[in-house]
Amino acid sequence: RSNAEKFEFQAEVSRLMDIIINSLYSNKDIFLRELISNASDALDKIRFLSLTDKEILGEGDDAKLEIQIKLDKANKVLSIRDRGIGMTKEDLIKNLGTIAKSGTSAFVEKMQASGDFNLIGQFGVGFYSVYLVADYVEVISKNNDDKQYVWESKADGAFAVSEDTWNEPLGRGTEIRLHLREEAGEYLEESKLKELVKRYSEFINFPINLWASKEVDVEVPADEDESSDEEETTDTSEEEKEDEEKEEDEEGEKKPKTKKVKETTHEWELLNDVKAIWLRNPKEVTEEEYTKFYHSLAKDFGDEKPMAWSHFNAEGDVEFKAVIFVPPKAPHDLYESYYNANKSNLKLYVRRVFISDEFDELLPKYLNFLKGLVDSDTLPLNVSREMLQQHSSLKTIKKKLIRKALDMIRKIAEEDPEESNDKKDVEESSEEDEKKGQYTKFWNEFGKSIKLGIIEDAANRNRLAKLLRFESTRSGGKLTSLDQYISRMKSGQKDIFYITGTSKEQLEKSPFLERLTKKNYEVIFFTDPVDEYLMQYLMDYEDRKFQNVSKEGLKLGKDSKDKELKESFKDLTKWWKTTLASENVDDVKISNRLADTPCVVVTSKYGWSANMERIMQSQTL
Ligand code: ADP
Ligand code: MG
Repeated sequence: RSNAEKFEFQAEVSRLMDIIINSLYSNKDIFLRELISNASDALDKIRFLSLTDKEILGEGDDAKLEIQIKLDKANKVLSIRDRGIGMTKEDLIKNLGTIAKSGTSAFVEKMQASGDFNLIGQFGVGFYSVYLVADYVEVISKNNDDKQYVWESKADGAFAVSEDTWNEPLGRGTEIRLHLREEAGEYLEESKLKELVKRYSEFINFPINLWASKEVDVEVPADEDESSDEEETTDTSEEEKEDEEKEEDEEGEKKPKTKKVKETTHEWELLNDVKAIWLRNPKEVTEEEYTKFYHSLAKDFGDEKPMAWSHFNAEGDVEFKAVIFVPPKAPHDLYESYYNANKSNLKLYVRRVFISDEFDELLPKYLNFLKGLVDSDTLPLNVSREMLQQHSSLKTIKKKLIRKALDMIRKIAEEDPEESNDKKDVEESSEEDEKKGQYTKFWNEFGKSIKLGIIEDAANRNRLAKLLRFESTRSGGKLTSLDQYISRMKSGQKDIFYITGTSKEQLEKSPFLERLTKKNYEVIFFTDPVDEYLMQYLMDYEDRKFQNVSKEGLKLGKDSKDKELKESFKDLTKWWKTTLASENVDDVKISNRLADTPCVVVTSKYGWSANMERIMQSQTL
């Protein structure tokens, strides 16, 4: 095309496209849900803008917020059109030529290795999945701020953008035309598309319409054989036209001859049920529906079910409905730039209108692993995002969401038969089977978030501490909880004992444990670097203090000989102290914490533990 401007894809995009186009990946179906998801995002955007500017939607068909799918079998073209926000020329070049999100490089590598594209949508590159099925793609787009443009590429490292002077005007929105590859013919079957929409896009909140064909019988005058000239009959297949019957009545009287022919007409067929799942009564939503909803919300189309979910309706001063999920797995970048990144995964709706999925004010950072959605009737609709962020109701919503989230996590533990203290012979039902080990799984994926929560969220510290799991000298290689620890405490034991280090194996050999284990005291092993910080915030639990056994202050109950020993070794301790000098030690004391080892270096109560010293050193190096 004479007016086309040529561009090269960013190197990373090019590499990704190469992988996609050459992949033998069998699940090519995913492209459709990615396109529908993009269309839905674009519709959300225009609807959001229309809240403050009604004119923006236009009128007539333009104002219809919907997605349309059309097939052109003869030319092997599948097109998906939306009346969303559309893209300006600049948008087309930027959005469909470069990758915005970080971490894509890692994804490209992962995809290359595994060949699994199921998570492509999570990485902000879902669009390129079109090249799983098409070898040539046109994107026609019209944004209110620009003319209509066509972006096109054959995935050969380059794309072209031209002002659109030949297609019909779109009004507003985007139409994506996929020129399907030879082997992707199945996507020209309506039944296939219907099945895919049902499977992957059921919970899109805009109507998805298919330009579906319909066979109808029509009578046409038999002598006008060239009836196929009629406009509506252009799709009629040749064989069917021969299926004609001549009719004569019994008396042989001549009636005008007619024949029946099958004709194909088209009409829009709605493929999804647009009633939002979160507005429904939780009792009436099935487990399968929640799972599918999770998949579409999280763009996580693995085979796994979410670990847990909570669907509730908050009433009172602040009204909202919410559905929150614990994903089956932690995302790859959960703790990447934890303190800087804006990674909330809750979508905020106000009265059914999508507002944002980057709303930090809904959940504290440590709960960013949750996915879900909040829809509030209390928040105002027609204010800027900045105003909304400061709305007083958000605090209430956040508080309730945290409570519900922690309840949901607690329930995973409560329903897990492996968690129960007295491991009776519980009858093995399939439901129990499914819940078995779920909390360990949760802990392995998201335990760090709970620890970060204890550090960050003073108001919920105790609730979070209940969710804490660890190994100990008496947990037998399994995870145990603080409640279980307390239930095993020796009579007379006041404090909860723990020790920190790099591994359980290293800690098990520690001289600090000698006497404690001998006397049957249980000691918690904390081996994650974050545990050191954790224990600076977690001072006590259920009125028990935490005591690091490598620090000063360990009390194992009074020994009658203590005073006597102290007296008799007075000279020795004095000698040690002066010999080592005050810049090396604070004090030298008689201790009853050891059994076989003659002496040990202990950290002062308020100083860093040796493990903490190690962590800090490794960070500054
Ligand atoms: P993501 O949807 O995660 O951002 P994609 O690769 O699916 O990643 O899409 C890239 C970008 O292209 C989108 O962020 C959006 O800006 C733009 N885009 C894609 N499809 C459409 C569409 N139908 N309407 C408007 N913009 C779109
Ligand atoms: Mg997308």
